[in-house]
Amino acid sequence: MKKFVLSAPYTLEAEDVPIPEITDDQVLLRIGYFGICGSDIQMYHGLHKYMTYPVVIGHEVSAVIEKTGKNVSGYTPGELVTVEPQVFCGECWPCKIGRFNVCQHLRVMGVHQDGFACEYFAIDPCYLHSCKGLDSKLATLIEPLAVGIGSVKRAGDLAGQNVVIVGAGTIGNLTAQSAQALGATRVMVTDINQKKLDYAKECGIEYCVNTSDISLSDAIDKYFGLQRADVIIDCAATRGSFASILEAARPSSKIIVTGNFKAPVEIEMPVLQRQEISLIGHMMYVREDFADAIRFVASGDIRLAGFITSVYPADRLKEAFAFIDENPDDVMKIVISMQE
Ligand SMILES: [Zn+2]
Ligand SMILES: [Zn+2]
Repeated sequence: MKKFVLSAPYTLEAEDVPIPEITDDQVLLRIGYFGICGSDIQMYHGLHKYMTYPVVIGHEVSAVIEKTGKNVSGYTPGELVTVEPQVFCGECWPCKIGRFNVCQHLRVMGVHQDGFACEYFAIDPCYLHSCKGLDSKLATLIEPLAVGIGSVKRAGDLAGQNVVIVGAGTIGNLTAQSAQALGATRVMVTDINQKKLDYAKECGIEYCVNTSDISLSDAIDKYFGLQRADVIIDCAATRGSFASILEAARPSSKIIVTGNFKAPVEIEMPVLQRQEISLIGHMMYVREDFADAIRFVASGDIRLAGFITSVYPADRLKEAFAFIDENPDDVMKIVISMQE
């Protein structure tokens, strides 16, 4: 079978290897599709701080069970699944309290160890989630959607709350939809890319605001009035986005950091202190967030139609990366087909 190894920045090579053998406790996945996300692009460009080369990329996956080991129950050949790609130790304090996403020895498939840019993958079924009834391409979006759900849950109970998401790209859009699905009273998403805002509107997000015309603070004032924003989630992760968020926050607002910052950011601490603003980090998801993601897609509470910009066959993987580099404003999600 073929697998695609990123051995150094911009160096992505196909290798021919045997189909992996499974143990009695594993299942063999036939990979259908995997999605390319912002962190894959950072890895491809050599800008990802926490990864290790060489690695088989791909952590947003849609696969079919090819066969199961004799001790495996609950999964049957032909079933559509996705993978929760976190490998955690189970021993550290975060693991002991169920926050596997911040395990002190966390390894992510496709980032720190091999992922799904391959035709077959042997895996322990504890990492799987059944996607029965979902579209096989859209199942690649369950992982990024779980990020959005995990992010919103960092704010706690959303009843009566106004939530603003800065950045209307894949994660921003899915986070905004998650905030609506999880019961926020009003949800706004902002960006300077009108196409992404138009798409957010199509996905049913109530307030989609272009902040090249109005400041974030004024937009919150205009649409949310006195209550302003209880929660602001940074999915843009730039010095500028963070500065505008801190300026727009109200006393006792929560700011959640979900996007990947590439450089340190200076914070005016007295603003945080005197307004009792909570600055909250967020990392990926836990198992229930994945389950919620699948449930919300199945129920139609979260809309993924139109999300996939295009599908590339695996042997054109480099072309897919080049397309994203050249058209960042036009891409929501590119998926790669491993079976063409
Ligand atoms: Zn990702
Ligand atoms: Zn751990």
